[in-house]
Amino acid sequence: MTDTFRAILVSRDDDKKQSVDFVDMREDELMEGDVTVAVEATTVNYKDGLAITGMAPVVRRWPMVPGIDLAGTVVSSDHPDWQNGDRVILNGWGVGETHYGAYAGRARLKGDWLVRLPSSLSARDAMAVGTAGYTAMLCVMALERHGIEPARGPVIVTGAAGGVGSVAISLLSRLGYHVIASTGRTAEADYLRDLGAAEILDRAELSSPAKPIGKERWAGGVDAVGSHTLANVLSMTSYGGAVAACGLAGGMDLPTSVAPFILRGVCLLGIDSVMAPRALREEAWRRLAGELDHDKLATLSTTIGFEDIPAAARDIVEGKIRGRVVVEM
Ligand code: NDP
Repeated sequence: MTDTFRAILVSRDDDKKQSVDFVDMREDELMEGDVTVAVEATTVNYKDGLAITGMAPVVRRWPMVPGIDLAGTVVSSDHPDWQNGDRVILNGWGVGETHYGAYAGRARLKGDWLVRLPSSLSARDAMAVGTAGYTAMLCVMALERHGIEPARGPVIVTGAAGGVGSVAISLLSRLGYHVIASTGRTAEADYLRDLGAAEILDRAELSSPAKPIGKERWAGGVDAVGSHTLANVLSMTSYGGAVAACGLAGGMDLPTSVAPFILRGVCLLGIDSVMAPRALREEAWRRLAGELDHDKLATLSTTIGFEDIPAAARDIVEGKIRGRVVVEM
C-alpha cells in the first residue's frame, strides 16, 4: 500500500466558487520536481490568507495545495546539491500559487529553489521567520545598500504589528536604528517596544491622502502597507532617504506625486521575495540566522496545528494576527 499524507487542497467549481478541503494525498499525486521534502513546519503569510480565502487571485492553477513557505528534510533527491537528510527552507518561487505547496506532509520541488537551513535555526525558527521575515531582511539589506545607516536618523516600519513589520523592527533595532513603529493596534505598544521600537505612531496619521512634501521625519523605512500610507511615508522621508516597499496590506495603489523623488532625491526601493535570486536569499538567511534575536523570535511567533490553517488564513487577511504564526505539522 502506498503511504499517504494529509494535505489542504483548494478547488474551484464551474461557477468559480472556491472550496478548501483536508485530503489524504499520495506522493505520486505531487507535481514535478527533483527533490522531495518531508515538511516539518510551515506558516501562514498574508499571501496564504489571500489564497485560502480567495480574496485575491494568488492561486493560478486548480486544484492547488497552498502554502508558500516550508522547512523540512530532504527524503529523495535527483539534484546534485541535495541529498537525503539535508535540512532545507523553501520560500516562494510560485509554490502554493502554481506549484503544489507547503500545506501537505510532503512537497516535491525544484532543488534550485531550496536554501539550506542554517544550523543555528530549527525548522520552527525558520517558519517563525518565513517569507514575511525573509522579506523584512531583504528590505533591511536594500536600505543598507542605499546607505541608510543608523546615524542617518530614524526609520519607520509600517504594518508594525504584522509579520513583516515585527521582524523588521527586531532586525533594525538590533542593528542600532531608532525605529518608529506605525500601527493601527496601539494596544500592542508594549509588544512593539519589546521588539525594539523606540516610538509608536498611530497609523491613522499616515492613512489620509498625502501632501506632496511633508515635514522630514525619517531617513527611510520599511513599508508593508502601500497606498496612502506609503505616499505619506515618502513625503516625510528626509533628503536623500529611501523607503523599501514590499506590501499592499492597505491597498495596491500609490497615490503620490514625484515631489519626494525630484525635490528630496528620495528613492523607492521595490522588494520582491518570490523570484529573488538564490544568492540574495542565501545572504538574507545567513544574516537572519546570525542577527535575529532568538528571544524576539519567540516573542513575535505563536504556534498552531495543521487543522488551524484555514482559521489563521481568515484572521491574517482581517489584520487579526500579531507577528508570525508557525504551523507544526
Ligand atoms: P500581516 O497581515 O502579518 O501584516 C500586515 C499589517 O499591515 C497588519 O498587521 C496591520 O498592521 C497592517 N494593515 C493591515 N491592513 C491595513 C490597512 N487597511 N491599512 C493600514 N495598515 C494595515 O502581513 P505580512 O506582514 O505577512 O505581509 C505584509 C504585506 O507584505 C502584505 O501585503 C504581503 O502581501 C506583503 N508581502 C510581500 C512580499 C514581497 O515579496 N514583496 C513578501 C511578504 C509579504 P498594524 O496592525 O500594526 O497596523
